[in-house]
Amino acid sequence: MADLSTQVVEVVGAKTAALLKSEFEIELVEDLLRHYPRRYEQRGALTDLGNLEIGDHVTVQAQVKSFKNLKNAKGGTRQEVVISDGSGSLTLMFFNQHWREKDLVAGRQGLFAGQVSVFNNKRQLTHPEYELLDDAADVNPDDYAEAFLPVYPATKKLQTWTIERSIDLALTALGKVEDPLPADIRKTEGLIDLDVALHAIHKPTSLEQLEASRLRLKWDEALALQVVLAKQRNEEDSWPAISRTEKPDGLLAAFDARLPFTLTQGQSEVAKTISAEMAAGHPMHRLLQGEVGSGKTVVAVRAMLTVVDSGGQAALLAPTEVLAAQHYRAITNLLGPLAERGKLGAHDEGTGVTLLTGSMTTAARRQALLDITSGQAGIVIGTHALLEDRVDFFDLGLVVIDEQHRFGVEQRATLVGKAGSDRRPHVLVMTATPIPRTVAMTAFGALDISTLSELPAGRSPITSHVVLSAEKPSHLARVWERIVEEVRAGHQAYVVVPRIASQEDKDLKPGQRQAIALEDLAPQLIEGPLAGVRVGIMHGQMPGPDKDEVMQRFANGPAHKDGIDVLISTTVIEVGVDVANATTMVIMDADRFGISQLHQLRGRVGRGSAPGLCLLVTEAPAFSPARERLAAVASTNDGFELAALDLEQRREGDVLGRNQSGMRSSLKLVSILRDESILEQARIAAVDIVNKDPDLDSNPALARAVQSLIDQARAEFVKKS
Ligand code: ADP
Ligand code: MG
Repeated sequence: MADLSTQVVEVVGAKTAALLKSEFEIELVEDLLRHYPRRYEQRGALTDLGNLEIGDHVTVQAQVKSFKNLKNAKGGTRQEVVISDGSGSLTLMFFNQHWREKDLVAGRQGLFAGQVSVFNNKRQLTHPEYELLDDAADVNPDDYAEAFLPVYPATKKLQTWTIERSIDLALTALGKVEDPLPADIRKTEGLIDLDVALHAIHKPTSLEQLEASRLRLKWDEALALQVVLAKQRNEEDSWPAISRTEKPDGLLAAFDARLPFTLTQGQSEVAKTISAEMAAGHPMHRLLQGEVGSGKTVVAVRAMLTVVDSGGQAALLAPTEVLAAQHYRAITNLLGPLAERGKLGAHDEGTGVTLLTGSMTTAARRQALLDITSGQAGIVIGTHALLEDRVDFFDLGLVVIDEQHRFGVEQRATLVGKAGSDRRPHVLVMTATPIPRTVAMTAFGALDISTLSELPAGRSPITSHVVLSAEKPSHLARVWERIVEEVRAGHQAYVVVPRIASQEDKDLKPGQRQAIALEDLAPQLIEGPLAGVRVGIMHGQMPGPDKDEVMQRFANGPAHKDGIDVLISTTVIEVGVDVANATTMVIMDADRFGISQLHQLRGRVGRGSAPGLCLLVTEAPAFSPARERLAAVASTNDGFELAALDLEQRREGDVLGRNQSGMRSSLKLVSILRDESILEQARIAAVDIVNKDPDLDSNPALARAVQSLIDQARAEFVKKS
């Protein structure tokens, strides 16, 4: 008798156990039984060979059509076996193995596994593994009667049928199973028991049964995840934080009085929530998400001023020097005399605003560090430089993180830790990549979420068009004319390119086209179509001060004597850059950017009162996925819609950015996008469980599942750091 915590080696033998461990880190019976089938073949129904992708590791069910023994030029032999599923066919290729002729007889059915490659324009598997289905010696007749044949995630060394046999052994040996899902949840959600589900997911006899087992097992994942998050949240909440409230007639009041616009309704509501949370004695953890240009910065500045009013400091962490410098400019502009504490004529309530970045001179940095330590700087803005050890705050009351997805969890933790060892600061993280609520929770941990869904009034919508530069070269010429016209009308423009320098030909994949490079395009434009306007260039490898200078000249605008009209740059301008006078953005090789990235980029224009125009230039062929993606971006300005599309098309991790949480990879069945309602129900249940029984003493099975999730996340974290 085995249970879920039995070592697999006791069930499957040493050799297979070693493979299970090396290929999939499977050690316990539970790990094995939770290695779920990737899909199911229906006995008798043949695989669609027409849809195999080159490079995929596949297992297909098909029938042998023909066997050919051929001579090679150099004296060896090769065996070409054609298999078919009725709709398409595939060649199996062997070298010097003519004895396979007695196995692979026309008419026989089998499972064939290998990597799909192409030879002479035909798809083939070279030296595939196979198992013939009508071979009585190899196939258990009981198996054969099943409606569904599981196909497991497998490798070359460990084929799906070996995994299947191991799982059969484990299921046969399995005794009583402790169920981690509390009985009341199973009852209200109508979920089947764990042992039933584990049998059914591997050996379903009907589609209904399979669905029931998947739903049940999704709940296991969702609940364990939500319990971890709920525990984290409780742990965070148990820290004390200093209550921060604004001073009557203080800095915040003075700021509001000089604000040149009124807050949108959304901004006011979020502001109210934030001020209530910061007034409490435990730390705020709030994610503020909002479309590009929705005005998140002002909301953050007001929160920072509240903290300064109460005698503390606020730090704003930005992902790039350009953004940090721009925040510094924007915030000092908004504050005006309020940002000039210590200077003559400054406002009584004023505070110091300090910028700290990696590229500052030693003297400037020393001064900045001093202002931070002494508390002279009420507002500190910086890049990763803020995370360094020697940055020591006088009284850090609020941490604001801009473009959260650019930072890892541990970077947030480093800054948060600077409030001291006995308390926590309030935390506000901001993101312009709108993501569904469940995704945000899962990826960013236990944060409360606010969303700014409306843009400030008076913004004109951005119009986007796809420009087919290869098919219609005259349209590209028109693009440059359009830019010149915008400049003549007093506006500014961006031209974004995917690369700084062109790639070496040897670095290109076969069939891959050279990407347009800044170093090539900029001189062409400056000498050609943009000869009459002032062009600036910016990219990520320029020294910080040079970037700042270019950005400053672009921000100064056309009226200024050394202003810049058109900025040609790489994606360093991607996030947050705010020049209201810029109306046009041209994105070269737009197909090389992701959906969310394009949406972020074009958010740089149409920020003022003049309408924005975004031109997506591409050479991608018609009907390609890239072209469809661009068409989607051009057709809507709804960031949420695009984010959902992006998530569908790409792996969730790519969209969210790096190392947000190792726990996401523990989700095998649950999709954080499609299973929103399960995750939400599980969250409610988890909060309840954790509040009643924080250490899960009454449910050891759940405690184990939770611990294994935590261990997994930690291991993942160690791998990455
Ligand atoms: P994002 O949410 O993308 O960070 P910002 O905070 O940079 O957006 O705001 C974009 C621009 O809108 C800024 O120039 C800001 O001053 C302006 N803005 C913010 N709130 C309002 C408002 N309520 N009315 C008018 N303009 C606003
Ligand atoms: Mg911003």
